[in-house]
Amino acid sequence: MSSHEEYRRAEIVVDLSVIQRNVENLCDAVAASTDGPAVMVVVKADGYGHGLFGSARAARAGGATWLGVADRDEALDLRGDGDTGRILAWLAMPGEDFAPLIEADVDVAAYSIEQLGEIVEGAKAAGRQARVHLKVDTGLSRGGAPLQAWPALITAARTAEVDGHVKVAGIWSHLACADQPEHEANDEQEANFEAALAVAEKAGLEPEVRHLANSAAALLRPSAWYDLVRFGIAAYGLSPAPAVIPADELGIVPAMTVHARAALTKDLAPGDAVSYGHTFTVDQPMRVALVPLGYGDGIPRHASSTAQVFARGRRGRLLGTVCMDQVVVEVPRGTVAGDEVVMFGPGTGGEPTAQEWAEWCGTISYEIVTRIGGNAGRAERRWTDDDGSLV
Ligand SMILES: *Cc1c(COP(=O)(O)O)cnc(C)c1O
Repeated sequence: MSSHEEYRRAEIVVDLSVIQRNVENLCDAVAASTDGPAVMVVVKADGYGHGLFGSARAARAGGATWLGVADRDEALDLRGDGDTGRILAWLAMPGEDFAPLIEADVDVAAYSIEQLGEIVEGAKAAGRQARVHLKVDTGLSRGGAPLQAWPALITAARTAEVDGHVKVAGIWSHLACADQPEHEANDEQEANFEAALAVAEKAGLEPEVRHLANSAAALLRPSAWYDLVRFGIAAYGLSPAPAVIPADELGIVPAMTVHARAALTKDLAPGDAVSYGHTFTVDQPMRVALVPLGYGDGIPRHASSTAQVFARGRRGRLLGTVCMDQVVVEVPRGTVAGDEVVMFGPGTGGEPTAQEWAEWCGTISYEIVTRIGGNAGRAERRWTDDDGSLV
């Protein structure tokens, strides 16, 4: 993180070398280079707000043989950026034209017989076999075929495979409570996954990768590893299960720093009340700064009077209500307009982390970084790395 670069108002700095090292360490944690599972890094939602392309390049450099995205356009954008590795795209809409994805050699997911039919149509149109990952709903009740519908999906997939239109490359599911490794739902979901795999095997399917684990399961439940693990939040340096284990104990470091310049500073006196609704009243003389970031930039309004920021080597409180474009924060005496105020960062210099912001706002770190870095945010983003090869 360089705080001396010129930026006008507010800036998000993403250190791609940190993402690369996180991924290297995560690969080591699951012994990916020896007999452990292969590693996918999930770069959906613009790399959790860290930027799709930079995150993807850093993940590949760190050892990810797979990338995962939700949306088809993200997969095609990665191909446009020159990525030639395995990519799985898993969220399609009814009537989806799969041909462009299949032509681009992207693995696709099927949750239902209807969707499998659309994939077969896409394969015919593309003139090549589609690689499909059949998803079973083992208990999250989100995507995937319900257990009752699974045998019929397997039969249809086997037929499409024999016909040469698809190759069932993967069978997969997703856990509901992986951040609570002792939760009984994990055992139930693993048992359901085993049963679903048995149905597939009986039908003659031989998937290349069976996969179930997100970051939390990959780090905390080796029984869920199978052939491939899907790391999302951990690649960006945030703990997937902060109540169980902090990021530093996982060998990962937050890659995103959000900082801004004080637009104005002033001194307030006891009795002065701050921001909309006067929800904060000054109790002792204090210097405050106006920071040009608000909920229009992805700063949660729930951070009102609870979050902290970092200026001139000290933490200060966010005072009163978060506005659309600005917040008022407590800063050390000597602070002047134009000085830097760090909202959150890796935490190594004393600044708050996205995990702390999540706790102050009653949410998860995922939402903090994804909102501020993603479409909701307006701050400039800048990417750095050790040697410039990833940017
Ligand atoms: C987002 C997502 C992941 C990554 O989850 P993390 O908790 O960020 O590791 C993995 N698999 C699927 C299906 C996802 O949607």
